Amino acid sequence: MIDLKNKTALVTGGTSGIGLGIAQALGQAGASVIVNGFGEEDQIASALASIGSSARHINADLRNHTEISKMISDAGDVDILINNAGIQHVARIEDFPQDKWNDVIAVNLSSAFHTTSAVLPGMQTRGFGRIINIASAHGHVASVEKAAYVAAKHGIVGLTKVTALENAKADITCNAICPGWVLTPLVQAQIDARAEQAGQTNEQATKALLAEKQPSLRFTTPEDIAGAVMFLLSPAAQNMTGSSMVLDGGWTAQ
Ligand code: NAD
Repeated sequence: MIDLKNKTALVTGGTSGIGLGIAQALGQAGASVIVNGFGEEDQIASALASIGSSARHINADLRNHTEISKMISDAGDVDILINNAGIQHVARIEDFPQDKWNDVIAVNLSSAFHTTSAVLPGMQTRGFGRIINIASAHGHVASVEKAAYVAAKHGIVGLTKVTALENAKADITCNAICPGWVLTPLVQAQIDARAEQAGQTNEQATKALLAEKQPSLRFTTPEDIAGAVMFLLSPAAQNMTGSSMVLDGGWTAQ
């Protein structure tokens, strides 16, 4: 296991799903972990307890630039930034509500620009930084009815490359991780919608969801994503920057 003592990590959307899995792994490796994200008070308290005794939560609605700026200034020096928060809305383009488009772009793409731009000067001064953007298989390929999500995820893969290039000569790397289906609340909502539409059980809808896109027919797990994060933080990845790693059971190989 790598040693992240003396490193501070900020994980957006770290109160649930993939972000929580990453935060737990960072905590286990000794980092001081700050998580952002929504949740009931007791849910956030139990998330923090599972990450480690020094874990902190900073509340900020990532749709709001002022709240992002305050979060970064409250966080202090950030050595590791994980831009993970994300939301989904499913509708055809002609029916896509404008406010949903704005929210998905704000949370899944613009917030990563704002956090990155706010932490980079400190990383450049200290001469070290690791930025990891949680994109998606949808950063590489598209699906119907996910215009905002696909646009945001393609966008964050591009943002990853520019961040990498602008900091290539320093010990600051920026990479994206592109998961396929991971069974989290974000995906369970899509399974529930499929089950209702098709009159299927949860099990049938889950099988159909996997069969449509993910040749392995099994979910990627938050632990798998945390493992990829740990690799990107390890010495072996010191010269890896601007990449997007797919952990998608073969989704984008088709
Ligand atoms: P999740 O719903 O379990 O967690 C999302 C997190 O984002 C939560 O902590 C939530 O509170 C936070 N969040 C949402 N809106 C926010 C806002 N306005 N301000 C602050 N925080 C906000 O989802 P997840 O599946 O763990 O997704 C995490 C990331 O992984 C997302 O970027 C998602 O697009 C990506 N991803 C997920 C899958 C999957 O199959 N689950 C696949 C590929 C990529």
